[in-house]
Amino acid sequence: MDIVVVGAGIVGLASAWALRRDGHRVTVVDRGEIAGGASHANGGQLSYRYVAPLADPDVLAKIPGWMLARDAPVRFRPRFDPDQWHWIMGFLQACNGREKACTVASLLPLALLSRALVHELVDGHGLAFDYVKSGKLVVHRDQDEYAAARRLLAAHPALAAEQVALDGDACLEVEPALAALRGRIHGAIHTPGEEAGDCRALCLALADLLTTGENPVRFVLGEAVDALETAGGRVAAVRTARGSIAADAFVLANGVDAPALARPLGMALPIYPVKGYSLDLPVRDATAVPRTSVTDFRRKIVYARLGGRLRVAGMADIVGHDARIDPRRVATLLRETREVFGAGVDLATVTPWAGLRPATPGGRPIIDRGALPNLWLNVGHGALGFTLALGSASVLADRLAGREPAVPHAGFTLAAVMPGTAPGGRRSA
Ligand SMILES: Cc1cc2nc3c(=O)[nH]c(=O)nc-3n(C[C@H](O)[C@H](O)[C@H](O)COP(=O)(O)OP(=O)(O)OC[C@H]3O[C@@H](n4cnc5c(N)ncnc54)[C@H](O)[C@@H]3O)c2cc1C
Repeated sequence: MDIVVVGAGIVGLASAWALRRDGHRVTVVDRGEIAGGASHANGGQLSYRYVAPLADPDVLAKIPGWMLARDAPVRFRPRFDPDQWHWIMGFLQACNGREKACTVASLLPLALLSRALVHELVDGHGLAFDYVKSGKLVVHRDQDEYAAARRLLAAHPALAAEQVALDGDACLEVEPALAALRGRIHGAIHTPGEEAGDCRALCLALADLLTTGENPVRFVLGEAVDALETAGGRVAAVRTARGSIAADAFVLANGVDAPALARPLGMALPIYPVKGYSLDLPVRDATAVPRTSVTDFRRKIVYARLGGRLRVAGMADIVGHDARIDPRRVATLLRETREVFGAGVDLATVTPWAGLRPATPGGRPIIDRGALPNLWLNVGHGALGFTLALGSASVLADRLAGREPAVPHAGFTLAAVMPGTAPGGRRSA
């Protein structure tokens, strides 16, 4: 089949990878460059075992504090935007224990499938993307949050098999670079098998692989898809300013902009931008910078060593389609970094970045057929797109081929991801 994939972020490229492997002739169209969107400078975490969504029952109590604090990890700026209000309502509905448990149960197998496929890709092709298997520490400064993390561990035997709860001292033994927080860490969840890497570098390496060998993927970059053209109850082509590109099937993998392309076909995709920030800082003293990826749970900040840089990422700003860098958010990330790892990095040489996570309210991506039989969706990966991309692409390719995917996929249908709907498509009580 000839297939057009819209979007050259990690999800579009992974989709192209899986579809070409099935023998399809693939064209990837992007309005910008490869990895110019959310995949550009994300937190770098391949977080296969840590897939809990932002929508959590505990979040409800934190919202008033977040609304008042200037440097809160989550920021909400109300806009005259019905999409924002729908999304917020869906998010609040998803903040319950049952929905969170369903999401974790759906995402874990998908993440583990991704892990197997990342290993296959790295072992088979030796891709260079500052990839490390350095483990992950989720550090808790708050006793109640640490207790909740341990409860989650106890409730999921699959998690308990690969994660361990550590007290503050044991945490510092695993990661001595956390010394600045001595006495302030209640505990941590350590996942020795977790990995990290540079998402943009992986995108570029994948694009290289896709354009070499037999049946190379065609890239059309710098051309926005303005609309999906339909004929006879199917999508016939994507329309760009330079003309139409026809194909047999089409995949929307265009992140936060997928709803705009889907809307004219009658599909309301529950995806809204959740803006985040990252900083790259050169490492000055390797002993004072973590080898293990670190998540500061309270501050919702992740730290990953990517080659000679420390990548710091965080913030969840629900402020619409606005990817501009707010210097106050950068200052907050910088202040936190100075406090924890300031001795190890060059704080004067900072590369800041902001990106828009394509988030669904409950945190599950949509990997499904769209409103027309030859239209497919691989969107809405929120805070976990780097982690989930290869697994999602495999599910997409299987579904497109009429094969049963390697992991349960009922939780990723559009019906299941719609606010107020549990995996399997049932409306929740
Ligand atoms: C601060 C931050 C930290 C993060 N940290 C992590 C992490 O540690 N681990 C993790 O797993 N995930 C992380 N994420 C999430 C991850 O980055 C995203 O889920 C992932 O990049 C989404 O990939 P995507 O391909 O769906 O979207 P994108 O990378 O945004 O790609 C979409 C592409 O579609 C193109 N496009 C859009 N509309 C059109 C159109 N009409 N025509 C043509 N092209 C179009 C865009 O130009 C873009 O290139 C983080 C995100 C942020 C913002």
